[in-house]
Amino acid sequence: MSGVSVRGALIIGERFAAVWDSLAHPSDVAAVSSMLADKPFHLIYSHADWDHCWGTAGFTRAPVDIVAHAECRRRFDDDVPETLNRMRLEQLGRWDALRLVPPNLSFSKSLTLDLGGLSLELHHLPGHTRDCIVGWIPEWGLLLGGDTFETPLPVVNDAELLDDWLAALETWAERDDLVQTIPSHGSYEGRAALDRTIAYLRALTGDRRFDLPAELASFYAETHQKNLQLVAGGPEADE
Ligand SMILES: [Zn+2]
Repeated sequence: MSGVSVRGALIIGERFAAVWDSLAHPSDVAAVSSMLADKPFHLIYSHADWDHCWGTAGFTRAPVDIVAHAECRRRFDDDVPETLNRMRLEQLGRWDALRLVPPNLSFSKSLTLDLGGLSLELHHLPGHTRDCIVGWIPEWGLLLGGDTFETPLPVVNDAELLDDWLAALETWAERDDLVQTIPSHGSYEGRAALDRTIAYLRALTGDRRFDLPAELASFYAETHQKNLQLVAGGPEADE
């Protein structure tokens, strides 16, 4: 366990499997690695934040490819190793053996993986970070959100991206074939994570009348304050 609560996904088609995020630490993928048995699999990074793509070296077999947005690939030459160096200093011993594995297949707008009887469409959806993507499985009406939607509220890093982020989520929400959303953090009940994130971002960019739980965990209470500061033109949040 890495000490952070993050959710990945394993999608198994007739010919290939797809693993959505390798999570935060090589030990986090042990279970999924054994579930894969000898099925060839694509590994997808929803974005380059550390809790989503640091577990890759823990797979007992290499993936067919590692797919991500081009900006995610770029971040592996930039802030990803910087974050690892910082965390190595902050938590001595915890991350020593960790090896970063960058994506080797990148795209800029969208890319479809044929898993055999199932497809996984990857679409760029910048917002939480510039490299964020979502994964759409049309056969199931299922949208994997990464950190593009999250309950009780999403982490905003860049106020400039807010309008396009909200518009992109609204476009997904208008689809009546979308029945299930799975975020990396928070509720995976029905479409709750998508709908609540839209409501939150509308309030943040609009009248600031938020419909939030009375009790927020300290991480989300702090994140909410940082989000408010960001749209007011205050200092940028860290991650
Ligand atoms: Zn995350």
